Amino acid sequence: MSIKVLIPTPLRPFTDKKDMVEVEGATVGEVLANLTSEFNQIRQHLYSEDGAFRSYVNIYVNDEDIRYLAKEKTVVSEKDTISIIPSIAGGVDVDVQEVESEIQLSNDEVLRYSRHLIIPEVGMDGQKKLKSARVLMIGAGGLGSPVGMYLAAAGVGKLGIVDFDVVDKTNLQRQILHSTRDIGRSKLDSARETLEGINPNITIETYETRLSSENALSLFTDYDVVVDGTDNFPTRYLVNDACVLLGKPNVYGSILRFDGQVSVFDARRGPCYRCLYPAPPPPGLVPSCAEGGVLGVLPGIIGTLQALEVIKLLLGEGDPLIGRLVLFDALKFTFRELKLRKNPECPICGDSPTIHTLIDYEQFCGISKSGISQQPAADEKTEITVEQLRARLDNGEKLFVLDVREPREYEIVNLGATLIPLSELPKRVEELDPSREIVVHCKMGGRSAKAAAFLRQQGFKNVKNLVGGIDAWIDKIDPTLPRY
Ligand SMILES: [Zn+2]
Repeated sequence: MSIKVLIPTPLRPFTDKKDMVEVEGATVGEVLANLTSEFNQIRQHLYSEDGAFRSYVNIYVNDEDIRYLAKEKTVVSEKDTISIIPSIAGGVDVDVQEVESEIQLSNDEVLRYSRHLIIPEVGMDGQKKLKSARVLMIGAGGLGSPVGMYLAAAGVGKLGIVDFDVVDKTNLQRQILHSTRDIGRSKLDSARETLEGINPNITIETYETRLSSENALSLFTDYDVVVDGTDNFPTRYLVNDACVLLGKPNVYGSILRFDGQVSVFDARRGPCYRCLYPAPPPPGLVPSCAEGGVLGVLPGIIGTLQALEVIKLLLGEGDPLIGRLVLFDALKFTFRELKLRKNPECPICGDSPTIHTLIDYEQFCGISKSGISQQPAADEKTEITVEQLRARLDNGEKLFVLDVREPREYEIVNLGATLIPLSELPKRVEELDPSREIVVHCKMGGRSAKAAAFLRQQGFKNVKNLVGGIDAWIDKIDPTLPRY
């Protein structure tokens, strides 16, 4: 009996780019065993070394999580569809507030919001709720752009924004809060100017800081709803935990390439992010948008859906996305909705929580204190810096340089190295000479570290990873090369 298995974009490189494969099996366990024997490389993404399911990947049969069915023993039939849902990085009743009688709309505001005022679900009362509401956005980037612009336009009275970045040219393809003349400016200054331009009647509070375990609780306290527009796992878990501890709704959105996810986590009334993904993926396994890319319009769609959910929560109207995860596949143009359940074992919102205060999230996500870039001081045996590589090449040494990025990236900029993308390396390893000294590089050093470790496993004795990748080469050796 063959069962349909839907493959998410991040895993499609391992299924010959197929988004759906049909696999034999009578239970989920059998189907996945057959899937991983047909597509060997998918195994490491689904199972840990001891053969257990990885906790940052969820398996669904139709719209149900198998953790709440019979797990791997869940019986499937031909009409069922199995979905693999990995975590990707990168948005209530909000105790519907008593609308204070002193909140009034000026004549100018009545005119501005007139298309809201004539909808029964909003009306004058709803518009006053929006005016008295306080929403905190984490990040003024791809997701934060539509969230901020629509919430400002809708008349949300106070918008807080946490960010510490400056506008970079590579942001402009999707971060429509910022424009070309803002390059080099703080994202907060640029966001404030755009949002005040859209609606001068609202208050904008900016926090130029990295959200941390030290400041999250005090920052969140003053807000009714938090919108998660971050691009990294430590901050996602931090935002989740702070919201659970304070009893605030967390409007979640995440994006990668052509895939988006949206949900509303409110532990008082449903599951939290940890119920969905109890543990983060190891660093480097899930590409960031900087490494994996993202279609510019995708954060526009997902962020707009987050803004919609915020407004519904503030108005107390409609059915919020609590306990539901919506997946958007832009290439196929499909929206799918999966049920999320509260996990009774959840360490922060379950029956007997073990987390009562904010923790060290970088450590939790396996990232060293020195930074997310995973660039510890070069270990002489396994790593080489761009300066060392340059010096050795200048010396005329015959190093074999291997580029494990994708052909598209190679086309943008390359160092004249031999190209074998990481996903093809296992098939093409015979093309390499194990007796040569090999230097492996990618964009930033993450994929090449994996490639180097793989080659060592295959018996290559002299393989070094180029620390910081071609980005470091462009920064320190040849700034005339194009950056991406
Ligand atoms: Zn939970």
